[in-house]
Amino acid sequence: MTVKSYFQNIYDNVKSISIGMKITLKYCFQKTVTVQYPEQRLTFAPRYRGIHEFEANKCIACDMCAKACPVDCIYIDKTAPRKIDKKTGIVNMSDPKNGQLVRYAIDYSKCLFCALCTEPCPTDCIHMGKLHDLSSYTREDVVVEFAQLDKQNLRTPIPLWMERNAGTIPWVKEEYDRVKSGTLATTAADIPSVK
Ligand code: SF4
Ligand code: SF4
Repeated sequence: MTVKSYFQNIYDNVKSISIGMKITLKYCFQKTVTVQYPEQRLTFAPRYRGIHEFEANKCIACDMCAKACPVDCIYIDKTAPRKIDKKTGIVNMSDPKNGQLVRYAIDYSKCLFCALCTEPCPTDCIHMGKLHDLSSYTREDVVVEFAQLDKQNLRTPIPLWMERNAGTIPWVKEEYDRVKSGTLATTAADIPSVK
């Protein structure tokens, strides 16, 4: 090694460390971007895909969504075929020929939120919703039983955080009331903005 290359190496090292430190220091003085969720919330992108919204009274249990799912996380069980009543647009459950939708469940520990299940649905009854937070204490709790939720007139689950914060945080209360009323939210505009 020549004297010149020796000093060149020292120069290169000091230069690269300086560049690294400059970037690090720049971040040290940046404004904090931490969001205190759920008191604060970022705005959803217009095409954001969240936990599904499901209209059980329009589902004919044809399995098209389950077949389209790339990770097989939709579970459907019915007692017999179901048909939509052309006049009302829903499955007439007083017609004995229509089977019961015994189970319609999605396992969110596997779901990719790819929306491939919504595309082939002939009755447009499965939608990508806007809720994203299904945090829970067990893996079983992230398997959402939509047919059971329908018995409570819910289209999507009410997560733990929503139950707990609805009394104190205005936007959560608004969202809680929306889910409780069975109103669909399929676009970013359907979710209240954070005030
Ligand atoms: S969003 Fe994709 S991964 Fe999730 S249930 Fe639908 S098809 Fe399956
Ligand atoms: S494709 Fe639609 S109608 Fe068929 S089982 Fe799935 S959600 Fe129900």
